[in-house]
Amino acid sequence: MRGCKFCAIAEGKEEASVVYEDELTLAFMDINPLVPGHTLVVPKRHFPDIFSLKEPWGSACFLAAGRVARAVRAAFGAEGLDLLQLNGRVGGQSVFHFHIHVVPRYPGDGFGFFSKRRPVTREELERHAARIREAMEEVL
Ligand code: AMP
Ligand code: ZN
Repeated sequence: MRGCKFCAIAEGKEEASVVYEDELTLAFMDINPLVPGHTLVVPKRHFPDIFSLKEPWGSACFLAAGRVARAVRAAFGAEGLDLLQLNGRVGGQSVFHFHIHVVPRYPGDGFGFFSKRRPVTREELERHAARIREAMEEVL
């Protein structure tokens, strides 16, 4: 898509430090890493987010993320690793071409799931689960 920087990277028109590539996906270093080794996996076709992502690109991205995760862990000696995937401006997404963040984790790296959590009842969880189960029928 014109004006999309990850499409430009996938087309070889914008510079990127590529770590992995297959027919459907590309993985490259995040230009502004949260921690050393932070890598992004993208489909080579433009999909803005998880809601629009189609097969076979979806499966291919998650398969690639697994391969990249194992390589990043080996290369950086990471003790743990987080996969992050943000959708929508309110979800923190800033580049509207679907991507999975591969973030290696090190002891004391300071990176975390910062938000305060509020306690909920089992009833509330069950109510929410029922709403999602119902919606599941519509979206599949
Ligand atoms: P998100 O907030 O999930 O949309 O994340 C977008 C990510 O893309 C950020 O972590 C940016 O640092 C990264 N990014 C933006 N432009 C580039 C680029 N040209 N090459 C590599 N990573 C980029
Ligand atoms: Zn794009």
